Amino acid sequence: MKLLEYQAKEFFFRAGIPVPREKLVLSPKEALSAAGELGLPCVLKAQVGVGGRGKAGGVKLAKTEGEVKAHAGNIIGMDIKGEKVERLLCSEAVDIAEEYYTSITNDRANRALVLMVSPAGGVDIEQVASETPERILKLQIDPLMGLQAYQQRRAGAFLSEAKDVRKQIAAIIGKLYWMYVCNDLSLAEINPLVVTGEGKVIALDAKVIVDDNAMFRHPDFADYRILSEDEAVEHEAKGKGLSYIKLSGKVGCIVNGAGLAMATMDLIKRYGGEPANFLDVGGSSSPEKMLSAIDYVTSDKNVRSIFVNIFGGITRCDDIARGLLAATKDNPLPVPVVVRLTGTNEDEARELLEGTSFIPATDMADGAKKAIEAAGDG
Ligand code: GDP
Ligand code: MN
Repeated sequence: MKLLEYQAKEFFFRAGIPVPREKLVLSPKEALSAAGELGLPCVLKAQVGVGGRGKAGGVKLAKTEGEVKAHAGNIIGMDIKGEKVERLLCSEAVDIAEEYYTSITNDRANRALVLMVSPAGGVDIEQVASETPERILKLQIDPLMGLQAYQQRRAGAFLSEAKDVRKQIAAIIGKLYWMYVCNDLSLAEINPLVVTGEGKVIALDAKVIVDDNAMFRHPDFADYRILSEDEAVEHEAKGKGLSYIKLSGKVGCIVNGAGLAMATMDLIKRYGGEPANFLDVGGSSSPEKMLSAIDYVTSDKNVRSIFVNIFGGITRCDDIARGLLAATKDNPLPVPVVVRLTGTNEDEARELLEGTSFIPATDMADGAKKAIEAAGDG
């Protein structure tokens, strides 16, 4: 789970790593009052999960109240690499003398952690790695021995000549390491770690990724998860026993079993269509489940047809048929629905659907083709 900067800074703050004074805001009005508290000039930073916000225009310095309002208005709602900005961090502006890079991450190949520092901070570290690799120091941290004091000092010495700055860096790296270990992180990154005009070292940006495999050890971290609109729908569907993943095509799919769902999507693609979703209704098949499956699929306005592809094993085809009929009794379907039911009680299911507006299919390929045709896809 990747945290947003303001969340990552909470981790930093708790770990005792110096960060600027800052406040999360959701509107230009809130930005103004935050700037009033923090003092001008201040920096307004888009809170999105993607990197390179600065270059994309998502980080702006504001010297006056007018600029705070204007920048906040511009950044909120802005699209940064496909992510819409909803949150803004208002941060006291820092007078920067030096910008460094610091991170700790897993080094799987060496079965260790790796501490990385570079005096070329503030910019894309991948660029530094490919153009001037000698400006990056990598130190392996033995997972049993832990970070050693000499490694902290070496990293400090690699970054700065100034004794006091080196000392502050060494201390920050020690705190970053404990933060990493205690919270089961898979990345802790500071870019830039800056030296201010007064010689104080502080973390200006923060990136933290929590290892998802360890989330069960940190139930309180669940509150940090911010779901996108699509993810929220997927999450809600999961609560109803459906595995639903929205895609971008026109042919909606309602299928039982993940393998069959994948095969169905493959077939739709094979015959020139595009699936609108992955949807596994699972083993049991109450009419309610079919109802909510149809709801999810048709709530996607791109959907032009639905292909119901059910293999009746434990799932009984007549149950599915009844579910489909119940789902359409009061509200007629907004799109054509092609149905292929095979297995347990398939004859009974076919009888139930006869004379209705459902389009029967003899097999998977026939169903896929009919659904694509009905969608006007391909
Ligand atoms: P990123 O582009 O998403 O990595 O966002 P950062 O928070 O790292 O900010 C990008 C750059 O903006 C930094 O490397 C700094 O050069 C600049 N910046 C951010 N905050 C301040 C500040 O308080 N003062 C000054 N002078 N520059 C800042
Ligand atoms: Mn940064």
